[in-house]
Amino acid sequence: ARGASLTDFAEKIGVDPAQLVQMLFGLGEMVTATESVNDETLELLGEELNYVVQVVSPEDEDRELLESFDIELGDEGDESDWTVRPPVVTVMGHVDHGKTKLLDAIRDANVIEGEAGGITQHIGAYQVSTEVEGTERKITFIDTPGHEAFTAMRARGSQSSDLAVLVVAADDGVMPQTIEALNHAKAAGVPIVVAINKIDKPEADPTKIRGQLTEYGVIPEEYGGDTMFVEISAKSRINIEGLLEAVVLTADASLDLQANAVQDAQGIVIEAHLDRGRGPVATILVQRGTLRVGESIVAGPAHGRVRAMIDEYGNEITEATPSRPAMVLGLSAVPGAGQSFLVVEDDRMARQIAEKREARERAALQAKRRVRRTLEDFMAS
Ligand code: GDP
Ligand code: MG
Repeated sequence: ARGASLTDFAEKIGVDPAQLVQMLFGLGEMVTATESVNDETLELLGEELNYVVQVVSPEDEDRELLESFDIELGDEGDESDWTVRPPVVTVMGHVDHGKTKLLDAIRDANVIEGEAGGITQHIGAYQVSTEVEGTERKITFIDTPGHEAFTAMRARGSQSSDLAVLVVAADDGVMPQTIEALNHAKAAGVPIVVAINKIDKPEADPTKIRGQLTEYGVIPEEYGGDTMFVEISAKSRINIEGLLEAVVLTADASLDLQANAVQDAQGIVIEAHLDRGRGPVATILVQRGTLRVGESIVAGPAHGRVRAMIDEYGNEITEATPSRPAMVLGLSAVPGAGQSFLVVEDDRMARQIAEKREARERAALQAKRRVRRTLEDFMAS
């Protein structure tokens, strides 16, 4: 249980809700049966009734909810169905070192001229392709303003990226947020590629950057380490291709990126908002399976049928395979960045799961409010 209403709790343990109301009254708490109470109160009630109340984490609770529909989030199916998928990359680094400029440079360098659409859209993530050793390779970049989505995803414990590009300005050097980014990458266990940016500047000192990062245990290949350092200029568009190649080579060397593309799609919400004309719009990243127009999905507390999918060029697409980002139309509400999405059997199941999640969120919120109100009453008395 977690922040449940008294009625729900009573039902779970098979007692009369009125009995619980009465018990709480006896303990000095005025609660109606439909109101939500916090975990501590549930534990207290449990004790009184000789029940062991186990408070489960929201993640576990959600897993249980999905299990009751015979769905396992993260299930990769049969290994024989796995195929190679592109790496998903986040750009990190100190403020003003050129993250946004670099993401723009990579995106612009990959607009296929003359193709329908042609002008890239900011949808929170994009996929580019680059030729490495004679083979066409794809890379997905997470491209969110201020990287709020990334922070939200980390807070939710959902890993979205496989690899990080650490941008360090060659005229400024390693700064506090450089180290912070480095620590995040380490904690997440993702390999990094260092982009020494702004080499167009006369005061640029790439050797200094290599030395500084070496002190933090990030040792360049040319010094016998295993991290690729690439000198670039995001502004003057120098060596962007070289950076993309380093990303692919690093992914190949240290990651075995595969996914099942034949199962029902599952993945993560990168960002979402309410569009005046189109309603809730969510950019999702497919992590496994293939998402198709017309399928029923649940994304956090939102549900719906995929009405349309739009890629980073503004073109409509009919399906999205692993590591592909896409903007999805047709949801009932705006899900949160970092929440999971998954395809389910039909609209009915999608709605049922979404409604249960929504009820749970509401209950948790209500319980929080109640605690605050009780505290305020207490302070006032
Ligand atoms: P962010 O805070 O890391 O996203 O940094 P921005 O991409 O916004 O860049 C910060 C500033 O550095 C802007 O004024 C950019 O024009 C500038 N900048 C970014 N990359 C380069 C570069 O390669 N060379 C030079 N000279 N300036 C750059
Ligand atoms: Mg920026």
